[in-house]
Amino acid sequence: MEEKIYDTVIIGGGPGGYTAALYCARSGLSVAVLEKLAPGGQMATTGQVDNYPGFEDGVDGFELGEKMQRGAERFGAATLYDEVTGADLAAQPKRIETTGGTLLARTVVAATGASPRELGLPDEAALRGRGVAYCAACDGMMYKDKTVVVAGGGNSAVADALLLAKLCKKVYLVHRRDTLRASRVYLEPLKSSGVEFIWNSRVAGLVHEKKLTGVELEDVRTGERRTLACEGLFVAIGRVPDTGLLRGQVELDAQGYVKADETTRTSLPGVFAVGDVRTKPLRQIVTAAADGAVASKYIEDFLAQME
Ligand code: NAP
Repeated sequence: MEEKIYDTVIIGGGPGGYTAALYCARSGLSVAVLEKLAPGGQMATTGQVDNYPGFEDGVDGFELGEKMQRGAERFGAATLYDEVTGADLAAQPKRIETTGGTLLARTVVAATGASPRELGLPDEAALRGRGVAYCAACDGMMYKDKTVVVAGGGNSAVADALLLAKLCKKVYLVHRRDTLRASRVYLEPLKSSGVEFIWNSRVAGLVHEKKLTGVELEDVRTGERRTLACEGLFVAIGRVPDTGLLRGQVELDAQGYVKADETTRTSLPGVFAVGDVRTKPLRQIVTAAADGAVASKYIEDFLAQME
């Protein structure tokens, strides 16, 4: 039996991946989306999305992910719940090894997104789920009426602190500088949130027995250290792009993002990168979705040249 060759295989079912799937499938291409968990990617871990247009009351991120999936599947895109274990992207057709078998594709879209950056502290991994967390929307309820620390000074840290302030007894926000990197939209609600800022400080150690009981804080100007008792630490210090599969096959920038301009074309013909994994000035749901739409145009162009 002849093996099926997809016009495009999309790795990752976030907003970039499913928008590429929608546009490609609607153009009559055969499309498979590979997703290891659930649709939506990072968006699925956001309770309330207020900055994706068309939802005047906002929308739950998980629900939006499911809507995007169903929208693409309506035109024939298939979702395969398999993890990608390897890929030969230079070959034609391209080969994608997954836990469910090998897929062949004329084009591949990397829509793998990014994962939370870790602090890199001893025992951080062991304490994950036992006091150390990376997503307030996912794990916040576990810390209801408890004292927590949020580490970071960007939009994620501030959004997490605001969400946790509604649940927790006390929220500290620890930032290594004395100004936030967060959008202005968060600054006003922060003032009345009860969140206490600890500026010019970093989390330098984790205090624990079986579970986290506190964090060791270091003043970055003086080096002075002190312990702050808490039951939870939410790490929100940025993200690292998920490019493990692509390394050595497509060009990455110094931070590890896939080098691709507004066309979403990577250094390897027939391989495209959309969403947070790509070099870009603004990582948002709407810009990931825009990438997916743009990718479909260049995928069609590439396929037309192959004929
Ligand atoms: P980010 O904007 O890169 O901010 C990371 C923060 O963590 C910075 O304040 C940084 O400090 C700090 N940091 C980095 N490494 C650290 C370390 N090793 N130790 C201590 N602190 C460290 O990351 P993000 O907040 O995760 O946001 C990622 C992207 O998602 C951004 O584009 C953001 O706009 C977007 N996002 C948007 C929304 C929204 O629009 N509602 C919500 C969440 C995320 P410095 O300031 O000193 O560099």
